[in-house]
Amino acid sequence: MRKFKFKIKLNIICIGLCSLVTGTAYAVQLLDPPSTPKVTNITVFVAKKIVTMDPAIPNATAVAVADGRILSVGSLADMKPWTDKYPTQINREFANKVIYPGFVEPHAHPLLAGILFNKPLLTPSPMPNPWGAAFPGVATLPAALSQLKKYSDDIKDPTKPLLAWGYDVVAMGKVPDRQMLDQASSTRPIIVWDISGHDMYVNSAMIKAYDITPEKVKSIPGVGLDENGQLNGRFLEIPALMFIMKLAGKDILSANEIPRDYLYINDLMQQAGITTSGDLAFGSLNIEMETKLAKAFTSSAVGDLRIVPVVYAEPFIEKYGDKAIQEAQNLSQMDNDRLIFQGVKFYSDGGYLPETMRMENPGYVDGSLGSSNYKTAQDFAGAMRPWWDAGFHIHIHSNGDKGNQNSVNALQLMLDAKPRFDHRYTINHFGIPSTAMVMKIKTLGAVVSANMSYISERAELEYPALGMDRASYATRLGTLVRSGVVTSIHSDAPVSAPSPLKEAWTAVTRKDVYKDGKVWAPAEAVTVQDAMKMITINAAYTLGVEDKVGSIEAGKFADFAVLDQDPQTVPALKIKDVAVFATVIGGKVVPVSETKKPRPFR
Ligand SMILES: [Zn+2]
Repeated sequence: MRKFKFKIKLNIICIGLCSLVTGTAYAVQLLDPPSTPKVTNITVFVAKKIVTMDPAIPNATAVAVADGRILSVGSLADMKPWTDKYPTQINREFANKVIYPGFVEPHAHPLLAGILFNKPLLTPSPMPNPWGAAFPGVATLPAALSQLKKYSDDIKDPTKPLLAWGYDVVAMGKVPDRQMLDQASSTRPIIVWDISGHDMYVNSAMIKAYDITPEKVKSIPGVGLDENGQLNGRFLEIPALMFIMKLAGKDILSANEIPRDYLYINDLMQQAGITTSGDLAFGSLNIEMETKLAKAFTSSAVGDLRIVPVVYAEPFIEKYGDKAIQEAQNLSQMDNDRLIFQGVKFYSDGGYLPETMRMENPGYVDGSLGSSNYKTAQDFAGAMRPWWDAGFHIHIHSNGDKGNQNSVNALQLMLDAKPRFDHRYTINHFGIPSTAMVMKIKTLGAVVSANMSYISERAELEYPALGMDRASYATRLGTLVRSGVVTSIHSDAPVSAPSPLKEAWTAVTRKDVYKDGKVWAPAEAVTVQDAMKMITINAAYTLGVEDKVGSIEAGKFADFAVLDQDPQTVPALKIKDVAVFATVIGGKVVPVSETKKPRPFR
């Protein structure tokens, strides 16, 4: 009322300036914002060292938290303006520990990883188990086949389908055909899903039980046929293997097991210091089921993760047609502090691990160029355009140099058609990049999320097919950092086990995990500080949640990774061995010791 009178009076006195003055009066009104909810109880965590990832206050020793958010960071004395005013509890359980922002996994498939890590395993490398001994790995095709037979023999009902996961065609040297898999069982439908997630093999019982005929699959690319035109059991790339999952998924994925699977990956990630994970192909299994689960999981007191689902365009288009974009946008209505829908995903080419990624001249050493799952830049841009125009943050799965070039060229086409600021187009994986590609990525304002297992686990396996040079400079982090491209690093779980500190170790040392620990393209190594940015603030930026997580700053979620030592001060070779003691999510302390066994999912 007072403001109203004030306005009238001014209008009478200075008519010529009335528009300017009334503008001022409204401004006065706007300067009177609503107050934020009152701070209730403050917890101040005191640590030996807090590494904030905020350049203004890079190091601290105390962080005050209330209602799940960070209030202030500095020394304990610096907290006084807050602690003098509100009831406060000082928590000294981390007094000898180092606190980092909770690690952010920018590219994983938490649900799929939880399901697959819980299935019978055939991985060549050891696979950690949050609740017990690691799977030791199987090294050869015969070892994999006898392991598969053992898994089958252990199931009573001889016709119950079996899904095994983690076979590695490059490590084991051969694509298993249906006759080989028939050795494991002639009655039980068996599906073997390869470690990259891009290749699937089935036995004769599977083909028979689900009545799969060459006729029925003739329009699906990637279905393997033998010289007689009969199915050879191979289903290569996403459309082909989604066909199998649609047929048999309901018999293999039991709804009762899925909460446990989610808890499994939750605990594996928690033990690795992760507090936020992207889910980079939401909807690829089943849109309704995943929606329900994501909601249940992120409202459960047992879960210790924030999930950032990135919808996979294909199943949305298939299910909703013209309404796909609208339906994907509607998912944001479910957003809460722990579930944040963000962006859309497309595939540019095949997988790095099974050597199906699309290569540019000179191609693979054997003269091939990679999988047929590949579009021209024009087609690719055309498929993405409606989502681009709707303002989506687009994530591209992109591996081979041709795949990467296409991803970049498609971005150029979309920018030419409809320029956008802060589009944050994200090249995921970035297997074989050239220097020119990095320069173009910088020019076009794209960002990169790179898979570090391409060095640590794969360089040794892939160099015979790629040549030493290209296998060595996979991911090119050094060039990306020096070019000023925002870069994060990821596990792509289930492709490799989630472990941000191991990824940082790889980024810094460029070493592999094999016994001699060869160093691959050392000139592409980055500093430990840059590597730590790649698993915190840069990873948050890649997912579009840098305003919420990724650094320890006032107003952000109180999400921390509590470590025994600072990766920036231990010898570089020890970074992967730094122990995670606990995570803190929204101020809630979760000691690693508490996630070492399964618990009821509430
Ligand atoms: Zn992925």
